[in-house]
Amino acid sequence: MLVAVISDIHANLEALEAVLEDIDRVGADTVVCLGDVVGYGPDPNPCTEVVSKIAFACVAGNHDYAALGLTDITVFNIYAREAVLWTRSVLTEANRDYLRRCPLEDAFLGGWLVHGSPVEPEEWNYILSVGDARRAFERFDQALCFVGHSHVPGVFDLDPRGFVDVLQAAKVSFETDHRYIVNVGSVGQPRDWDPRAAYGLWDTEENSFELRRLAYDVQTTQRKILAAGLPEFLATRLAIGQ
Ligand code: ZN
Repeated sequence: MLVAVISDIHANLEALEAVLEDIDRVGADTVVCLGDVVGYGPDPNPCTEVVSKIAFACVAGNHDYAALGLTDITVFNIYAREAVLWTRSVLTEANRDYLRRCPLEDAFLGGWLVHGSPVEPEEWNYILSVGDARRAFERFDQALCFVGHSHVPGVFDLDPRGFVDVLQAAKVSFETDHRYIVNVGSVGQPRDWDPRAAYGLWDTEENSFELRRLAYDVQTTQRKILAAGLPEFLATRLAIGQ
């Protein structure tokens, strides 16, 4: 089965549409989502509606929880906080309901899905270092765990001797005696200095992962951000992938 793994859409409809076109083109069988459907971007309702239709499974992200008033936003930076308050003011009841039903973690086809880290998922921890990854490997049983949250794609590879390696290749063939934590990057707000939308393709037969990048109409999204009265920084960062 070819599984498209999307994350951190952040209410960016143009980026999401570019990713969906690619998902169609490659003929993925199903889609799973790792959360942060909303927050930062100008289209929380259309993006939630699309995800609710296409995603077989979707776990909640910290920005989804923030939009629902379920997490403390005093730890958010000022831009994120402003965007949360705006998102709360426009999100429909139906979309609120959908996001509220998303669990914090989920199992899917021998993979584990979580927004930030399987280490206390409700604390929204990041997996940035080998040490973070090592702790995280102890908190799920599957060979594979898919995460988002940092908006930076990458793969942590745990070999049978217990060594953790960081892989940056766009395509990874999984070894059957290794375990992996795969960060699929962000659809709607990449932060690895590449402004193109990111998502992952997990081929369960080939036992491989491929990171896909798609250019999209950044200027339209930027215009919508400014028209919504959201902070200008949230528009400018999209053009540089930060
Ligand atoms: Zn995010």
